[in-house]
Amino acid sequence: MRLLITLFLIFCSLILFTGQGSMVDWRAIRSVAIHSDDWGLCGFSPESIILDDDQIELINPGNFPPVYWTSTLEDSTDVADLASVLAKYLDRDSNPAVFQANYITSSLQSTPSGWMEYDIPDLHPAYQRPGMWDAVNSAIEAGVWVPELHGSWHYNPLQMKSSVNGNSQLEKLNNAGVLLFPECMSAFELGLEADRKVVEDNLERSIDNFTDYFGMMPSSVIAPDYVWYRDDESLWTSVGLRAVQAKRGQRRPNQNKYTGHVMKMFERGIRRISEKKLCYIERNCRLESLQHKDHDATIFSCYDEVLTSWNRGQPAVVETHRINFVSTDSVLQNIGLSSLDKLLSKLEAQDVIWLCDDEIAQLSRTGTSSRIFGDQVICRNYTHSRRLVIVENNGHKKCIYVPAREVVRIKLN
Ligand SMILES: [Zn+2]
Repeated sequence: MRLLITLFLIFCSLILFTGQGSMVDWRAIRSVAIHSDDWGLCGFSPESIILDDDQIELINPGNFPPVYWTSTLEDSTDVADLASVLAKYLDRDSNPAVFQANYITSSLQSTPSGWMEYDIPDLHPAYQRPGMWDAVNSAIEAGVWVPELHGSWHYNPLQMKSSVNGNSQLEKLNNAGVLLFPECMSAFELGLEADRKVVEDNLERSIDNFTDYFGMMPSSVIAPDYVWYRDDESLWTSVGLRAVQAKRGQRRPNQNKYTGHVMKMFERGIRRISEKKLCYIERNCRLESLQHKDHDATIFSCYDEVLTSWNRGQPAVVETHRINFVSTDSVLQNIGLSSLDKLLSKLEAQDVIWLCDDEIAQLSRTGTSSRIFGDQVICRNYTHSRRLVIVENNGHKKCIYVPAREVVRIKLN
């Protein structure tokens, strides 16, 4: 009996604590990735609006951190300011900090003649942001901005339409750009209530929009509200996505309060062992300064989390949502930007390497990676022998030999 219990405990430990495995030693690389969700989201309102009590009661959106009442779509200055901060901090290979912006690709507007749909770069007409996409393109060219996929709408569009339709006040607010609608915080884009055909069509649409605008496929995805299921991972694999963010934070809104957490841990452990195509990239550091009174404390705790990640042999991955950098309240967004500035300054002194998910996924699988920005490519080889790195650019393949444990940056043309 004692032997059986011991074997059972060993079995459970293997499932719960075995990682996905990696070809590189993350302790030595000391990498940091920065994940930021909600870019491109036309919400929660186009500018500072004050809703009266009756309107708030009517919208009844559900729970979210109070600071999100000031959430809005980024403008050109927001993106340019962030890009300037990132460009200041060079890693030990002289590359600037990389910000992975996870994008929502479509928006909806209720109009007197019915619902209008907009795909990036087009946006809900209430959100006029001249020059914003130019600022994004400049940041991408400079190598500080890497777009990835967050979702199509961020919510279930059918639930939004059925909530708003027939209520003239809600239709008016939506027409003016107010994203919130009754119980929207539980209208999950990938929830169990979502029709699978709609989910498949939306994914195809978001991938097409993303690829058409940014000129490349997304490689990494984070589901809106951290809600997704096994079927969604199969879909992501089928369209060529290679990395899933924040598996540890995955939410199951309908799970049992007592057994659900344990079931989730086992399911995650089994997926980590069995999954061969998707790389799970965990967010193990948090910089959500605006959700705490002591902003500086969030910088120090995030910095400590980075060091802890390295000590555990993991790539450090910082979670910091758009609300920290884009707000209808300029005081708040200055605090968020300043927090990131201070964190990057402290990390730069730690001989850091800045990476994005696609590089982490490639390095984990092969020990080598490439990332193209502007007319350049950064090739990494963290193995112990010279390796051939194949770079694909606009349908052309280029072979680059990279010496062992070296990073090379070359011009593509
Ligand atoms: Zn989000």
